[in-house]
Amino acid sequence: MSKPRVAFFSFTSCEGCQLVVLTIEEQLLELVKLIDIVSFREAMSEKSDDYDIAFVEGSITRTSEIERVKTIRDTAKVVIALGACATIGGINCLKNQFEMNKVKDIVYGDMADKFDTIPARPIEAVIKVDYRIQGCPIDKDEFVEVTKAILQGRKPRIPDYPVCVECQMKENVCLFEKGMVCLGPITRAGCKAICPTYNDGCVGCRGLIDAPNLSSHKDLLSEHGLNIDDAISRYMLFGGNSKEKYE
Ligand code: SF4
Ligand code: SF4
Ligand code: SF4
Repeated sequence: MSKPRVAFFSFTSCEGCQLVVLTIEEQLLELVKLIDIVSFREAMSEKSDDYDIAFVEGSITRTSEIERVKTIRDTAKVVIALGACATIGGINCLKNQFEMNKVKDIVYGDMADKFDTIPARPIEAVIKVDYRIQGCPIDKDEFVEVTKAILQGRKPRIPDYPVCVECQMKENVCLFEKGMVCLGPITRAGCKAICPTYNDGCVGCRGLIDAPNLSSHKDLLSEHGLNIDDAISRYMLFGGNSKEKYE
């Protein structure tokens, strides 16, 4: 039986999530026994337009990217959004807070007319996505879990609980107790609570859990004398496409 043909694609992004895939090392060697990687710009120069599974990294920020991602959807049987840029729009959505012509002027100056830019959006705003691997960057264990699940025809085991659960399992002192803002209570776990573990508040790079209790999070902020605007500005760092969900 032929192995599934796998391709990696990059849209507007830093390509850091693809780099994470390259650090998987031993497990990647095991995976390549089960799949044929036919396009992967970070790792090989060969390319193919014939693939079954497409990992798509990056957000859509130019008109030309819309057609390109639709072509990938038409070709692949399975599409996986890879990383925060692809799943929730990610850091690229910061520009959505400004008028697009202004953004172009700031970045390109006199050359602004030569460039196309549209508000940044996740790939799911344009095409149907079958699976999401969250985070900026992704977690390598989660990449392996989702890939194995696809190959085994089962549902991937992705946390549906907040970062606070992983944070408390590590016995961290809650950052709220230190007067710091953290989005852990409303953000999907899976990163092993890396930011609060290193004394930095979660900024929600893995997106919201399915049913975030925003009013409870606001109450928590208020109980600790913290400002909701600080929480929103943190949330906007990665969730610029869904500001209204917080407010
Ligand atoms: S999610 Fe983060 S690490 Fe991944 S491509 Fe986007 S900016 Fe880079
Ligand atoms: S530091 Fe953040 S993630 Fe950890 S328990 Fe407190 S609110 Fe939750
Ligand atoms: S703690 Fe929050 S911001 Fe940090 S990696 Fe996890 S989800 Fe992302």
